[in-house]
Amino acid sequence: MRNIFRPSEFRRPKDLHETSWILSSFEGRARVVAGGTELLVHKPLDVDCLVGLSKLDLDYIRNGRAGITIGAGTTLVKIEESEALSVEPYRILREATRLLATPTIRNTATIGGNICNASPAVDLPPALMVLDAKVIISGLEGTREIPIADFFEGVKKTVLSDDEFMVEVKIPAFPENTGASFQKLRHHQTSIDIAIVNAAARLSFAGDTVKEAKVAMGSVAATPIYSKKAEEILKGKILDVDIVKRAAEAASGEAKPIDDIRASAGYRKRMVTVLVERALEESARRCGK
Ligand SMILES: Cc1cc2nc3c(=O)[nH]c(=O)nc-3n(C[C@H](O)[C@H](O)[C@H](O)COP(=O)(O)OP(=O)(O)OC[C@H]3O[C@@H](n4cnc5c(N)ncnc54)[C@H](O)[C@@H]3O)c2cc1C
Repeated sequence: MRNIFRPSEFRRPKDLHETSWILSSFEGRARVVAGGTELLVHKPLDVDCLVGLSKLDLDYIRNGRAGITIGAGTTLVKIEESEALSVEPYRILREATRLLATPTIRNTATIGGNICNASPAVDLPPALMVLDAKVIISGLEGTREIPIADFFEGVKKTVLSDDEFMVEVKIPAFPENTGASFQKLRHHQTSIDIAIVNAAARLSFAGDTVKEAKVAMGSVAATPIYSKKAEEILKGKILDVDIVKRAAEAASGEAKPIDDIRASAGYRKRMVTVLVERALEESARRCGK
């Protein structure tokens, strides 16, 4: 294997099928390049061809009765400034984006790159998970749609096969009494620090009762994960301080973080409790509870 990053080809296919055909013909040695803010920093050695998606028109945010669709090539700055994403519960995407990297990076980085990067510490996936987002994947056999949580298989591993790439993210519509919140803990609270831990929550109420609860967290396992136990504790209850605390502690119990350069596993577990508690309180507050 070469020991420097030197792809010999750059292709800009005109449609979905041509993209998959190029990706498949390199048998795993071609990579989609979107904003390049991750790929061109890490420079993987096993790449012969970069495939740019700029001719596919994947840079859009569409608001319809069934919800919101976001093209995989949509830049983070567009998400940050989107009118359609300024309302509950979608606005957590704008909030998560604002806490991500620097304005320079957000100008070129894309939602597809953020998801497909498949780092355990990325910010948009936990926010998208509590919004029940699905991702649309295109390949030689056509397209398929999967829940975003099922897209991740491990650190930097996704379900994409050699011929496949992401084209769109779909978020459903929600009932009126729905609030969400995204929380991120960074080392120095500077704009280029990736998450020590992040957490997102969404609560949908029927009257004062929690009808649906979603809790997701990042940087606590090989992939972003849901806290199913926290969701069970919350569902069907009238929220009070004790229930929120129990749910946050249950989420911490499900977190399986590691020690690394940014924090110890023990500190991360304690911080999950704090962040999930804040995310739940904020979600409820945004519904006037
Ligand atoms: C200084 C710095 C700070 C950062 N801080 C943060 C942070 O706080 N939070 C955070 O979440 N991330 C952070 N990142 C990581 C990264 O910049 C972002 O995740 C960004 O969203 C990646 O998007 P991109 O379009 O640049 O992806 P690229 O670099 O183009 O691609 C990333 C990966 O995704 C694949 N890919 C891209 N698009 C597709 C597609 N449509 N289909 C299939 N595969 C695709 C590429 O092949 C590559 O493997 C940071 C990076 C840097 C350099």
